[in-house]
Amino acid sequence: AGAAASSLGSTELSASWFERAKRSLAGGISSSSRLTSTGPDPYPLYMRSGSGARIRDVDGNEYLDYLLSYGSAVLGHAPPELTGELTKVLATGTMFGTCNVPEVELAERIQEMVPCAELVRFANSGSEAVQGAIRTARGVTGRSRVLKFEGHYHGWTDTLAISNRPAPEETGPHDAPHSVPHSPGIPTGVVADVVVCPWNDPESLRAVFAAHPAEFAAAICEPIVANNACTMPDPGFLDLLRDLCTAHGTALVFDEVCTGFRTGPGGAQTLFGVRPDLAVFSKALGGGLPIAAFAGVRELMEPLATGYVKHGGTYNSSPLCATAASLTLARLADPAVTGRIEATGQRIMEAIRRAAKDHGVPCAVQGVGAMFQVVFTPDGTPTRAYRDTFRLDRHRYDAFRHHLLLQGVHTNAYGLACWFVSSAVTPDELDRTCEAIDVAFAGLAG
Ligand code: PLP
Repeated sequence: AGAAASSLGSTELSASWFERAKRSLAGGISSSSRLTSTGPDPYPLYMRSGSGARIRDVDGNEYLDYLLSYGSAVLGHAPPELTGELTKVLATGTMFGTCNVPEVELAERIQEMVPCAELVRFANSGSEAVQGAIRTARGVTGRSRVLKFEGHYHGWTDTLAISNRPAPEETGPHDAPHSVPHSPGIPTGVVADVVVCPWNDPESLRAVFAAHPAEFAAAICEPIVANNACTMPDPGFLDLLRDLCTAHGTALVFDEVCTGFRTGPGGAQTLFGVRPDLAVFSKALGGGLPIAAFAGVRELMEPLATGYVKHGGTYNSSPLCATAASLTLARLADPAVTGRIEATGQRIMEAIRRAAKDHGVPCAVQGVGAMFQVVFTPDGTPTRAYRDTFRLDRHRYDAFRHHLLLQGVHTNAYGLACWFVSSAVTPDELDRTCEAIDVAFAGLAG
């Protein structure tokens, strides 16, 4: 790849903070994904502040941010709609470990916006909320087995950290993938309870239900696979999954941690017109503060109400985070806001396609405007399932991302993750993003 002009200054303070961090933090990081999100870079960038669509590192470099804390900062960083109110909450007490008014108002908003949300429970992270949804499905059905899809990510806890990104030699037969633990330390019994199926493969899906009739407590998926390069569901695939779950008494769980409130006020279940039994939310829900929720139909959520199924959490729906989420949803309930996010993203997707064509670089841009990814497949076709990503040119992605960073455009360094778009991008920032994309493709072609 040729060298593109850089607008980036020194990052030496980030380098020295990383050296210092390694002496106290395990690996110098607080989440394993921050290692992969650094890609091939020798050290991560230390971000100091953010405002709107921009973030600034400790050396003073400014970036247009399309990582957005993995989509959380959906209204941009430090959005004025939130900061004033949250300052008031800071002054009056952030959490009491008791029932509080903001959590009720927030649950009501979610009920209004999300088709399957007859009842809601809050948690603090996507992983926790996934655990809550799966516990509920298991508790209600009295079954242990869960169906998940290869390459889908549902958090770091033991429950489902299986076959997120298995190496090619671990995957097993296409139509009956092995259940591969994502890390040492996951008990074998947990792994045995998770059955894995390829995505977008109706035959394998029918076969796995036929092989395990009325056995799955839940079937869980990312309706748009944010953690597998934004692979879209083939038309009809989610409907088939819905039908099979109904026929087998299995709770259909949509993991809407990335899609929720981002792909439109009603998330993916509204976008695709498929109503799950349970859904999990986080990221955009909190507008930059840590909060998550699982929600579902009354029949499944009622056992939580009676205390038959247990779920807890000291920090659940603290007034600070519930207020942030309510204010965020007040904005995202307006289709004009999610529509603007979508339109901004569509323009960036188009700019990538155009630059790729102009510079003769085969690739596909997949997903929706609000969240998308570029994949460097040899023939420029999109990916339909996890194993398609084995043929991606990862080095080309790394080079693309690096060229963008040098132009002051910050994206996820991990090629199977995605771009997230906020409502804060100005027309000028959008133009600059598109120009940077053209320079990056010139660099790839050069
Ligand atoms: N589900 C999906 C689809 C995610 O993308 C993530 C995180 O990236 C999670 C669950 C886990 O959320 P958290 O990192 O907040 O635990």
